[in-house]
Amino acid sequence: MPEGHTIHRLARDHGKWFAGQQMGVASPQGRFAAEAKRLDGKTLQDVTAHGKHLFYHWSPRQIIHVHLGLYGKFRVHKNPAPEPRGAVRLRMIGQQRAFDLNGPNRCELIGKGKLLEIRSRLGEDPLREHACPETVWQRIERSRAPLGTLLLNQTVIAGVGNVYRAEILFLLGIHPERPGNELQRDDFDDLWQLTVDLLNIGVRYNRIITVDAKRIGKPASRLNSGERLNIYKKTKCPRCNRRVRTWELANRKMYACEKCQT
Ligand SMILES: [Zn+2]
Repeated sequence: MPEGHTIHRLARDHGKWFAGQQMGVASPQGRFAAEAKRLDGKTLQDVTAHGKHLFYHWSPRQIIHVHLGLYGKFRVHKNPAPEPRGAVRLRMIGQQRAFDLNGPNRCELIGKGKLLEIRSRLGEDPLREHACPETVWQRIERSRAPLGTLLLNQTVIAGVGNVYRAEILFLLGIHPERPGNELQRDDFDDLWQLTVDLLNIGVRYNRIITVDAKRIGKPASRLNSGERLNIYKKTKCPRCNRRVRTWELANRKMYACEKCQT
């Protein structure tokens, strides 16, 4: 499942490529045909993201809400777009580019009320400009749930997925089973800042990079897939060389070093 940096990068790219343009909107597969017909030929105003949710704004009463889920996938084309491949739920055609959306968990036409309702159920998104860490802190300091669970809970903090969870806790030396209410305020401030920084790097490079590229001696954009992460899917701890422990936490596989993370 894509993490928040991918969704924000999509919002940024789609905004740059399509906002302000009169769009062709269609649903080759048919499941979004009635909604697409209402938008076809209208001007797309803006594209925004909150956590793992994308919003295409046409007017306050017409917003497409997309959640990719496990199987959702975008394909971008230079115009003219090729024949639709597979079950294309949504096709949008702009002046120079087009995109297809296949297999989303959700693709629906909503109004501003529903948008606010969806956002109110989500936690603060570290990639949003006015995100409020205080709200996140209040949830964490009152919770006995493990931090490894809290970080994946989209109603606490929106956009962090399995890879960022493992990397953030490793970099801060925090054991994933440590309960939220045992986290000190200073450590939370570090956690929030690191999350903001890492997600922003993710948006910039369109991939998750949690290592210091300078220490490896390469530009961040040139790091290969084995070099970008510290602990996720690793067998040995990069700090102490001990075996990385893996187990299920909140239904996803956790990776941690039991010596370096306390
Ligand atoms: Zn270690």
